[in-house]
Order: sequence, then structure tokens, then C-alpha cells
Amino acid sequence: MEIISAQNIFKQFGNFTALGDVSISVPEKSIFGLLGPNGAGKTTLIRIINHITAPDSGQVFFGGEKLSPKHTEQIGYLPEERGLYKKMEVGEQCVYLAQLKGLSKRDATKKLKVWFEKFEMQEWWKKKTEELSKGMQQKVQFVATVLHEPKVLILDEPFSGFDPINASLIKNEVLRLKNNGTTILLSTHNMSSVEELCDNIALINKAKVILHGSVRDIRQQHKANTYEVEFTGDLMTFTKALFKDFALLEKHQEGVLCKTTVKLLYDKTPNDLLSTILPYVQVQSFREILPSMNDIFISKVQQTEMHTTVGLTE
Ligand code: ADP
Ligand code: MG
Repeated sequence: MEIISAQNIFKQFGNFTALGDVSISVPEKSIFGLLGPNGAGKTTLIRIINHITAPDSGQVFFGGEKLSPKHTEQIGYLPEERGLYKKMEVGEQCVYLAQLKGLSKRDATKKLKVWFEKFEMQEWWKKKTEELSKGMQQKVQFVATVLHEPKVLILDEPFSGFDPINASLIKNEVLRLKNNGTTILLSTHNMSSVEELCDNIALINKAKVILHGSVRDIRQQHKANTYEVEFTGDLMTFTKALFKDFALLEKHQEGVLCKTTVKLLYDKTPNDLLSTILPYVQVQSFREILPSMNDIFISKVQQTEMHTTVGLTE
């Protein structure tokens, strides 16, 4: 069941097309990654889904209904431009923000104490926001976004500005929220944690969706018949055995162990590879290599750049 769907969204800023016919569909209780380089149109789409910017055309649905302000109550939104009141005390500010989302002061304070303890922020409660570093403020804003336990979380570049430890803290929280039934739509230009985090993605480049679907399917579709083979035995004999049916892409030796990457050529199967090498070496491990989302992302974006260039020169 999909909870958010954006259909055929167009958005121009003057002559510039920020979104040119973009559609995405976010299944319930999963993590959806809106991926793409800087300037792709991710924030523009997120702002449209949050009712902040209106599209020129196209529609957004929430739980099957046309998106309206009543739905925004069920959404927790972390904007890309973080904004807290600088002069206000951190605790007071969080309670205030929670009250805006409908929590009572008592409830908000209780919940906040739990989060502040979990994130080791207790000492910040009485500090003015401006006394905190940018990363610390971002942590506060994340807590303020998730505190009222919205059904849907929309996080625009939630990891940017964090050191690796805090980025991983936030990542684990996002995964925990998903396991508790929250739907999460997040944007990121950083592909490093996409595999661990996202169930589904849309890759946007220059105002268009150039790849979408489940991370599992996408990695399967882009696999290149490549296997990691570890063995003990003679590397030269192994290489000769591969002959012309398999390509040795990488090799290195660690003591007696040889680690190689082999690509199947023609219509060769993994079993063909195994039966070819078994007479010569002792196989220690054999594993298919799926491309990383980062590799797929780079090759897809480069492909579209090439098409655009070809288009221009024609
Ligand atoms: P992303 O979040 O993927 O980095 P954005 O959605 O912020 O990208 O921006 C997409 C493009 O639209 C950029 O080229 C940006 O300069 C342009 N853009 C975004 N907002 C505005 C605006 N209010 N006025 C003019 N151009 C804008
Ligand atoms: Mg952005």
C-alpha cells in the first residue's frame, strides 16, 4: 500500500525546469530514498509534497486522497535549511515545537527527556540554541521532528552536517522508526548508506527520474556476472584455466590465499566457472558481487550526461 504518491509533477522557476514530469510512489512502513546530485530537484519535490511550494502541474496523494493541509499533521518534516530560534533555550524550544504538533506540555517534556538522555543531550536543555554547534542544533531539530511520532517522516538531507558517529546514530534511529511502522522519505546526495537504509529509491538527475524501484531489484538488474573467488593454489595455473571463457578482473595474494574477481563471459554460468577451476585450486569462498548503489548511481548519471551531450551536438 502506498502512502505518498506524486504524479507527473512539473515545476519551473522562470525558464528553468526544476522538475520535468516527476512521479514517485512511496510504500507504507518503508524507507524511500530520493537520490540525486546537487541541484537535481530533490528539495523542490519535497517542498511540493509538504505543501510549501505549489507545482505548476501534477498531483500529490496521501493515503489515496488528494494532499491537503489536514495531512501535514501526520507528517514530520525536517527541512534542508535547518531553522531553530537562536535565542531560545533548547528544552523550552523543543517543548514549544511539540506543542505546535499537538502534544501537551507534560507529554512533550516527558518524551523529550527520554530522547535527550538517549542522544546524550541532557546538558543542552538549558542552553541557548546559539550556544550549540551546527551539528548539535541539527540533532535537536531531528528530535523535534520525530517527537510527536508522525506516521510519515520527510527528511531532507538528514545526514549532512553530521560527523560519522552522529550520522550513524541518526541512521540507526531512522531504521528503528521504520521497524516501528513509520514511513520515511529521505533525500540524500550521499550514496554511502543507501543499501543499508533504503527499501526503494528514485534517482533524480536534472529534473527527471532516471531510475526507480526497489534497491534489491535495481542491484540485481545491474549485476555484471561478476564473482569473487578466493582460493589457495597457484595463481598462474588459475589464470590459464580461465582461458577465454572468463575474464580475470582483479587479483591479489595474502599469504597462501589468492583473492580474485572473475567475470563470466558469453553465456557461462557460475557452475561452469567452478568446474573449470576446481581441478586446479582449492576454492575457499565463492560469492556473486552485486554492484553498489554508488556505482549504479555514477554510471546512470554519466549515461544521461552523455545522452544530453549527444543531443546537443546533433
Ligand atoms: P536538490 O535538492 O536536488 O539539490 P533543488 O530542488 O534544491 O535541488 O534545486 C533544483 C534546481 O532548482 C536548482 O538548480 C535550483 O537552483 C533551482 N531552484 C530551486 N528553488 C528555486 C527557486 N526558488 N528559484 C529559482 N530556482 C530554484
Ligand atoms: Mg536539496
